[in-house]
Order: sequence, then structure tokens, then C-alpha cells
Amino acid sequence: MPKDVSGEFVRVKHKAYVGLGANLGDREGTIRRAVALLAATPGVEVLRVSALRETEPVGYADQPRFLNGAAALATELGPRELLDRLLAIELELGRVRGEGPRFGPRAVDLDLLLYGDEVVDEPGLTVPHPRLAERRFVLEPLHELEPALTLPDGRRVAELLSE
Ligand code: ADP
Ligand code: MG
Repeated sequence: MPKDVSGEFVRVKHKAYVGLGANLGDREGTIRRAVALLAATPGVEVLRVSALRETEPVGYADQPRFLNGAAALATELGPRELLDRLLAIELELGRVRGEGPRFGPRAVDLDLLLYGDEVVDEPGLTVPHPRLAERRFVLEPLHELEPALTLPDGRRVAELLSE
């Protein structure tokens, strides 16, 4: 970890993008609470939140429509620490894991979409998020937050959207 001139440890800030989704109960209220909990996390600064849009469920069609968006963060947390925080917020907001179908209904879904230009491939953590490039409901809010955004492999979000 780098030190600053006074010899104190400083943690570098990384720009990260988090996907926000909900399809049960007060969807917008839950997403707003998730963003507030993120913003209250030490080492996390919420820079911007995209508009929230209604989307059709993917993968498991027989469920209510989703509200989806994304947030841009500046964070001193590492990718694993940030994911753990996202999963803790999901639990706090009432998501019950291991219940119901995969990609099924959930009070809130928080995904680590991008973490700077880093590529992470570990058990339980893949960044960029593995389904990012094929999901319009993820690409659109990312593009809104940062029109020039590129993935670590050089692909532009704007290009992926026009495909
Ligand atoms: P999805 O978000 O794709 O609908 P889940 O929210 O059920 O699926 O996520 C299941 C698991 O995916 C999480 O427990 C988490 O460990 C893992 N995972 C791997 N990479 C990521 C990531 N980048 N963001 C969020 N979860 C991830
Ligand atoms: Mg998720």
C-alpha cells in the first residue's frame, strides 16, 4: 500500500460501477435505500446514479418487471471487499438467498459491473460482470453514466449497445 508524505498509509481510489435491480415490493424505494447504504459505507463515495428504467425479466420470465439502473462509485475498497458489502446490503434489504429460481424475483440485486480496468476471475467474483455485455438493461445505464466507457478488453459500451 502506498504511503503519503507524512508516512501515513493511503488507499488508492478506484472507479467502480454497480448494477442496481429490484422487482419485488417498493422497487424504487429499495434501490434508493441500497444507494444510501452504499453511500454510508466507509471508503465508498457514490458519484452518480443513473435513471431507473423498467425492464422485462431475463432468464426466468414468469415474474414481475424489474427496475434497473447503475451507480458510479469512487472507492478505496478492493473488488472483493466491495462485493461483500453489496451482498451484505442485499441481505439487509431482505433478499433471501438460495430461495426460488436463479434469476428469479428478488427485493434487490446489486452487481459489481466494473472495477476500474481490472479483470478478476475468482470463485464467487468475476469482473467485469459476466453477463454485462449482453444485457441492455446494464449497458444503457452505464452509457448514461459515462458515454465514453470502455471495458477492460477495449470494447466500448456505446458499440455494444448498437449491436
Ligand atoms: P445475478 O446477479 O447474475 O442475477 P446473483 O445475484 O444471484 O445473480 O449472484 C449470484 C452470485 O454471483 C453471488 O453470490 C456472487 O458471489 C457471484 N458473483 C460473481 N461475480 C459477481 C459480480 N461481479 N457481481 C455480483 N455477484 C457476482
Ligand atoms: Mg447479483
